[in-house]
Amino acid sequence: MAALQSSSGVTFEVGCDVLVAGGGAAGMIAALRAKQAGADVLIVERDAVPRGSTALSAGLIPAAETRFQREAGLVDSKPWFAADIMAKAHGEPDPGAVAAVVEAVGRAIEWLADAHGLPFSVITNFIYPGHSAMRMHGLPSRSGAELVDRLRAAAENAGIDIVASARVTTLFADAARRIAGVEVRRPDGSTDRIGCGALVLATNGYGGNKDMVAESIPEMAGALYFGHPGNQGDAVLWGRALGADIRHLSGYQGHGSVAHPHGILITWATITEGGFQVNSRGERFTNEARGYSEAAATVIAQPEHLAWTLFDARIADIARQFEDFRQAEAAGAILSADDVDSLAAAAKLPADALAETCRTVNALKAANAIDAFGRGWSGKPALRAPFHAVRVSGALFHTQGGLVVDGVARVVDRTGEPLPNLFAAGGAACGVSGRSAAGYLSGNGLLTAVAYGFIAGAEAARLAG
Ligand SMILES: Cc1cc2nc3c(=O)[nH]c(=O)nc-3n(C[C@H](O)[C@H](O)[C@H](O)COP(=O)(O)OP(=O)(O)OC[C@H]3O[C@@H](n4cnc5c(N)ncnc54)[C@H](O)[C@@H]3O)c2cc1C
Repeated sequence: MAALQSSSGVTFEVGCDVLVAGGGAAGMIAALRAKQAGADVLIVERDAVPRGSTALSAGLIPAAETRFQREAGLVDSKPWFAADIMAKAHGEPDPGAVAAVVEAVGRAIEWLADAHGLPFSVITNFIYPGHSAMRMHGLPSRSGAELVDRLRAAAENAGIDIVASARVTTLFADAARRIAGVEVRRPDGSTDRIGCGALVLATNGYGGNKDMVAESIPEMAGALYFGHPGNQGDAVLWGRALGADIRHLSGYQGHGSVAHPHGILITWATITEGGFQVNSRGERFTNEARGYSEAAATVIAQPEHLAWTLFDARIADIARQFEDFRQAEAAGAILSADDVDSLAAAAKLPADALAETCRTVNALKAANAIDAFGRGWSGKPALRAPFHAVRVSGALFHTQGGLVVDGVARVVDRTGEPLPNLFAAGGAACGVSGRSAAGYLSGNGLLTAVAYGFIAGAEAARLAG
């Protein structure tokens, strides 16, 4: 479907300065910035209502040194944030890219609040694994649906045209790889050609493309895909045809706690606050505290490809700030019991093994010890009745590999030369997580959507103007 053709002799029915392909967080933010910079902007989105994976997310964006952190009395620094990203990704990302997104994301959040009225606040009652400060910024409902809906409302208020139900299928480029425009296809098969001065690819990654997942992420081939089905890898396919540099296609965000069979995300706060996971034998199997992303493949490797996440009422109170968790409770996914034996019976887990696992965890917590998997239990209180358990599977959330971009979000080729007028943001661009799921630091997805969208929009407008 994603094709590249010569622009020679091609005419366009309409034109704009900046064309943005994809209407998730990256695309909306790029469009808002380009519009602010005076460009004539058009968003082309394949769905009837632009929402993307952004709407499926918790909408939490990490940023350091923001005024929202200062207002909450939180101390943080951009170098700490950059170091956290590099540490989680084992030094694999380009440090220049990390510095660029860390620098831009806080400015982008403050600008979205000031110029477009998005009421951000920082999560202050738990810290995500791998982050050395509380720096997750979210909207009141802590949902990505609110984020993308508010962004779309802002785009509409700013007078940005959104062409919905229109998939960009073809890029037209000249011999110098300057994009002259695109062809879009509608569900009824009709097509339009739209010319542009610059193109921002904000079509996310290839999580919805089974063949590309099998090719690049074999450990997740056949796993539950929890992201937006429209993310078919179009940006990577166009990038390949244009000779773009494409990196880290094996990198992804997984999640090891999706309620099964309900398919509802269970926040990892259930783990970071002192909960843990067991398999169908009632035994722990991993250091859950390393992060939820790498936990996806670990859970899938357990008997029946499933596990149980165990926590208590105190932790459930924290988790309840998330809409997803409340939905999971309403759907009956969260089991409750006044003692471990009853919990084992409700979950059909071996009672003796589960009791032994709980005793061991309590002893580790009491001793502030580190267990055989390498998880440290310091400062975590023992779970207290009532206890909760939820059966979970591992899932693929989104892919992190993609088009390599320079400091202004322009796509570069394999020699490092920027393509004349092609930008990438969000999941279309190579992320900052390196080659594996373990390199994904919480928030890396929206980090590059917001930061690269912010950078690309301004630069695309400047270039097209
Ligand atoms: C369940 C879940 C929870 C998550 N939680 C978080 C979180 O809390 N924090 C975080 O940082 N990240 C999170 N993520 C990841 C985050 O959602 C993504 O990284 C981010 O939304 C990517 O934004 P985007 O704009 O690049 O893509 P999207 O939001 O997916 O938008 C891409 C858009 O492009 C459209 N499109 C695709 N191809 C074409 C085409 N050819 N023509 C026209 N339109 C096209 C799609 O329809 C879609 O609307 C989560 C992901 C999932 C699935």
